[in-house]
Amino acid sequence: MRKIIQESLISALLFFGILYATLQVDWMKTLHLHPTIVGDKLSEWVWKLSESSLWKVSNREVCEPIDSLVNEMCIANHIDKGDIHVVISRDNEVNAFATIGNHLIINTALIRKMENESQLCAVIAHEVAHLQLGHIQSAIRQQAVITVLLTLITGNGQSEMLASLTGQMISNSITRAKENEADAQGARYMHAMHLDPMEMANTLETFESYGILSYLTDHADSKERARRIRKMHFSHNGPYRRILSQETWDKLQEACQ
Ligand SMILES: [Zn+2]
Repeated sequence: MRKIIQESLISALLFFGILYATLQVDWMKTLHLHPTIVGDKLSEWVWKLSESSLWKVSNREVCEPIDSLVNEMCIANHIDKGDIHVVISRDNEVNAFATIGNHLIINTALIRKMENESQLCAVIAHEVAHLQLGHIQSAIRQQAVITVLLTLITGNGQSEMLASLTGQMISNSITRAKENEADAQGARYMHAMHLDPMEMANTLETFESYGILSYLTDHADSKERARRIRKMHFSHNGPYRRILSQETWDKLQEACQ
């Protein structure tokens, strides 16, 4: 019995060891694969897998205000809106994340938790910055290749579990430096929209005060990050404005309950 436990432990360690080592290599480069052809096809396939686990929200009260915020952010910052695909998912986990194919997933629980539109914009700005700075794309291509390899090895039945496992590994591999970069860029996006960029810092602190939330566990060390944002200098760009009316905001909140 002990031997069996030992053997399975060794197998598990080996599996994760190999998986971890595999993630450290840029396979697209090593195998001379052309990222726009092979990587994007694989990414598309992995996206289809991930997409099926989302409970997409399509009612107007939710989609239109979020679309307005993203639209304003793109216009003010000369970002092609066609590059950002927002998906709102009915999910009780307080989370938002950028993923495959320039998708930005926002869970209804996160919207519900936000006290005002600036906080929500701060979260969106941080994730859009990850996409625009290319932090996600390279990691995602890696994930796509690995998922395909793992599916070939283990059979299709395990692919969803493996996709989420590798996804977790990738989100852990976004370095502190990249988080700081996305914060700073996100704050600049907000400033350009005539929103208070310091809301980026406030939002991080608010999240921390809520205790352990998934958004924070993926985005560790929020106090230090808030401190960095507060040290940034912005030219005067006020008075700050509101994008959504109070009524629209209230309806959005209500629809996310
Ligand atoms: Zn991040």
